[in-house]
Amino acid sequence: MIEIQHVNKSFIQRGGSDFTALQNVSLSIQKGEFVSLLGPSGCGKSTLLNLVAGLEKADAGSVTVGGKTVTGPGPDRVVVFQEHALFPWLTVLDNVAFGLKQKGVGKAERESIAREQIKAVHLTKFADRYPHELSGGMKQRAAIARALAMDPEILLMDEPFSALDEQTRLILHRDLEEIWMQTGKTILFVTHNIREAVTLSDRVVVMSTRPGEIKKEFMIQATRPRDKADSNLYHMEN
Ligand code: ATP
Ligand code: MG
Repeated sequence: MIEIQHVNKSFIQRGGSDFTALQNVSLSIQKGEFVSLLGPSGCGKSTLLNLVAGLEKADAGSVTVGGKTVTGPGPDRVVVFQEHALFPWLTVLDNVAFGLKQKGVGKAERESIAREQIKAVHLTKFADRYPHELSGGMKQRAAIARALAMDPEILLMDEPFSALDEQTRLILHRDLEEIWMQTGKTILFVTHNIREAVTLSDRVVVMSTRPGEIKKEFMIQATRPRDKADSNLYHMEN
């Protein structure tokens, strides 16, 4: 589904020198797989996710999705960021329906799709509220509903729960797991949090600090990862 092959990516730093964020990185992700990308700050996780999103372009190597070279953003790959980025002047319903409007979906249909997704993230009672009237967790649920409304094949999530308190994060883990099992989406999930990675995903890909290489990969040996989270965590820490 997602094929990243021998990708290099450098950024020009202030002062003009090059900084290598990714060097010879290869990664394959199967359709329906839930892969976590783990690693220290600055190791290139977001850069890799942005290449798949089409928000950045590789200097060398290739990124393909479903056999097609990624040349820019597309509705088949939707990103959920750490900051929810909802439009403050739109209600939850209108935020979730926004992308559908852009796609030319009629009003009745987009409202029906939006309400369905709002229900999936348990926000039904808050559909007519504005973002500032929601808690951080609710805003992030709305952002997930907005992404799902586009019915992308791939959900790209860049530390979507990092700004949330532990309890809210655990609830959102459960919701995301449910969404994943019901929809079979391919998910690339970036996180700093080892426990989160091990709990949620099929496979954890660990990147090393520099120069952005993939250090290790762990397959999570359970269809319901959460059941095995503690034993998997033990293996990762040792
Ligand atoms: P974090 O966990 O802190 O989010 P990360 O693993 O996501 O870190 P990236 O954001 O991918 O790391 O950044 C990798 C490196 O590339 C960093 O050193 C960063 O400063 C640099 N970098 C990323 N984007 C740019 C940019 N647009 N311009 C210049 N440098 C950049
Ligand atoms: Mg990042």
